[in-house]
Amino acid sequence: MPRFFASNNGSKTIADSQRRPILSSESSHNEVPVRHVLIAILGTGFSGLGMAIRLKQHGQEDFVVIEKADDIGGTWRDNTYPGCACDIPSHLYSFSFALNPRWSRTYSRQSEIRNYLRYCAKRFGILPHIQWNCELLNASWNEDEQRWHITTTQGQFTAAILILGNGPLSEPSLPSISGIENFAGVLFHSSRWKHDYDLTGKRVAVIGTGASAIQFVPHIQPHVKHLILFQRTPPWILPRHDQPIPSWQRAMFHILPITQRVMRTKIYWQQEIAALGLVYRPNILEKIMQLARRHMARQVPDPLLRAKLTPHYIMGCKRILLSDDFYPTLSQPNVEVITDRIREVRAHSIVIEDGTEHEVDTIICGTGFHVTDTHLPQFVHGRGGRSLADNWQASPSAYFGTTVAGFPNLFLLIGPNTGLGHNSMIFMIESQISYILDCLHTMDRRHLQTIEVRSEIQEAFNTEMQQRMRGTVWTSGCSSWYLDANGRNTTLWPGFTFEFWHRTRHFDPQHYDVISQPVPAYGGEKVLCRPPQL
Ligand code: NAP
Repeated sequence: MPRFFASNNGSKTIADSQRRPILSSESSHNEVPVRHVLIAILGTGFSGLGMAIRLKQHGQEDFVVIEKADDIGGTWRDNTYPGCACDIPSHLYSFSFALNPRWSRTYSRQSEIRNYLRYCAKRFGILPHIQWNCELLNASWNEDEQRWHITTTQGQFTAAILILGNGPLSEPSLPSISGIENFAGVLFHSSRWKHDYDLTGKRVAVIGTGASAIQFVPHIQPHVKHLILFQRTPPWILPRHDQPIPSWQRAMFHILPITQRVMRTKIYWQQEIAALGLVYRPNILEKIMQLARRHMARQVPDPLLRAKLTPHYIMGCKRILLSDDFYPTLSQPNVEVITDRIREVRAHSIVIEDGTEHEVDTIICGTGFHVTDTHLPQFVHGRGGRSLADNWQASPSAYFGTTVAGFPNLFLLIGPNTGLGHNSMIFMIESQISYILDCLHTMDRRHLQTIEVRSEIQEAFNTEMQQRMRGTVWTSGCSSWYLDANGRNTTLWPGFTFEFWHRTRHFDPQHYDVISQPVPAYGGEKVLCRPPQL
């Protein structure tokens, strides 16, 4: 029976001696080699990497991290568009166990965040555990062996535990517009930026006005000949106030780390207050909407343009955006904002609803991601061979966004109903990681081989989630990627983040069906379930 953490006295258990070393392979003639590991983690973004680090900090070495690319970073590796940055302040957007006193700005740029993740992977010794250029093709629960059988582009694995940290914003969504496949110019998605293609002097169409587009539009506008922005729904935009962090402050954070912790805590509570408006009292958002209107009035002198850019839904129903340079960019002479629907794309142009044809050389799609309809759930099969996709029927659900009935020993990071519209996802990820660690410690202590959340517990939890969505700003009538194909908000956590932490701080085996195995006697491990430190 696998043991997830070393016992306190450090002596080897029989289980330890039976455990095969990581990357060991076993094969008979003509068979594909199979690598046996205790734990397989998917992805090296904040969630997969954070999980790997915390396992290692708890003394676990028998894990592999499956990474489809050749670098660390998940979404912070893939999104390299000009101006890509975080809209959560840097001091909060980092692991609680690896604060970075060197952040250069209030809101870090993509390259700095990716370098931070690379640094963490190196500092905590995760690199040797990563299987690069390795894409998951299939993962199936094997009932006889009580293990996951995992097929990847780099071969086969088996693992007692499978942890999916693939991230909700990794599959680009391209718009389904008539004729788009016949476009003869250059077309790409914001998360697959073509850096070898020079936009200078080009006629560029940008589709979308979400968090990505409002960041790259100001950066490309000075270079292009003409920029047409196709806006379907205007976003609510607040001032960003991004600025460099002075060197004296960075030195202070370095010498006196407590000062950065204090700053981080302050930012956390400032962000957390927004949940009051989003979840409990949407009417109090009126004051913030006035702030946003004033921001637009200051930055957009043309009343006609202002009318086009004014949102007609309650702030927060879609993600609230931050920008100081998007509105001024739209007033530049080489920029046109079009709010008519796109009727079709032709070889060298885009035709809008009224029949006007706009000639363009390039189309950049800032059209977001597949979130509730990603492909991965089709390739993960639980008990009886049923896929996660079939299980979910387009409405993903899990217990605390982490465990799913019918899928033993499977853990999701940033699973259903763990997303946020107001605070740092790293806080949620670390809460989930603590929950998983506590689960593994409990399995060790109680000699459990398999855990599976009870379906009635998961159902009750998801009923609660959906009931709590009523009256929130997210159900106030806009369309957004928070909602799945059935119109349910299966993306966001409907409350304060500290509530999520509080409820996930202990793994309760009573909520799970378990299979135990006779095991050699060894001492139980102290449960280590710490809150993510602020
Ligand atoms: P997004 O927020 O989903 O925005 C997609 C945009 O494309 C929307 O304006 C949408 O219009 C438009 N669109 C989609 N299909 C269209 C079509 N067929 N015709 C016309 N317009 C179309 O995507 P995103 O900007 O890539 O951002 C996704 C998420 O990534 C964000 O919400 C955020 O969570 C994350 N992100 C975070 C940061 C950060 O700073 N931390 C930065 C970038 C992204 P509608 O609104 O009408 O649907």
